[in-house]
Amino acid sequence: METKNQNPPCHEKRIPLWLVLLDNLPTLALFILGFLIIKPVSAIFAVSFLIYAFFSIVWFWVKICPWCHHFGTFACPCGYGAVAPKLTRRKTGKSFRKVFRKHIWIVVPNWFVPSAFAAYLLITDYSTKILVLSVAFGFTGFIVIPLISKLVGCKNCEIKDDCPWMTGKKD
Ligand code: SF4
Repeated sequence: METKNQNPPCHEKRIPLWLVLLDNLPTLALFILGFLIIKPVSAIFAVSFLIYAFFSIVWFWVKICPWCHHFGTFACPCGYGAVAPKLTRRKTGKSFRKVFRKHIWIVVPNWFVPSAFAAYLLITDYSTKILVLSVAFGFTGFIVIPLISKLVGCKNCEIKDDCPWMTGKKD
C-alpha cells in the first residue's frame, strides 16, 4: 500500500542544529555508557558492542531512511535524512511503516545487551561504579531518549502518523 511518506521531499524545512544534537548526543552517550558497562567483563566484547552500535546506525540509514519522506532533506528530526543519501538512493514502492518494522530490530541490542551485562555485574560483582553506570544507562536509554523523541524530536515530524515508533501500530 502506498503511504504519504512517498510524496516529494519537503526541501523547504530545515531542522535546527540544536535539535539534531539533542536527538543524537543522548544516543552517543548511550553507546559510551554501554561500552563502559561491558568493558569490566570483556574489553573485546565492549569494543564489539561499539562497532555493532555504529553498524546498526548505518544499517538504519541504508535500510530504513531511503523509504522515508525525509530522505535527502534537512527536515529529518535527527539529521539521518541528510546523511543517508551519501550511502544509498531513495527507494519507493513499499510502505515506510512495513520497512521500519522489518528493520528496526537492528538497534534493539544497543539497549538490551548493556542492560544484560549491567544486571550480571550488579548480581555477581557489585560496585558503586557499576550501579552509577547502570542507572545512567537506564535513565538515558529508557527515559531520556524516548522522551526526547516523543516530546521534541519526532513530535512535529510530518510523517509521525506513518511511523510505528510514534504510533505503536503493528501493521
Ligand atoms: S525521519 Fe527517520 S526514517 Fe526518516 S530520514 Fe529521518 S531518521 Fe530516517
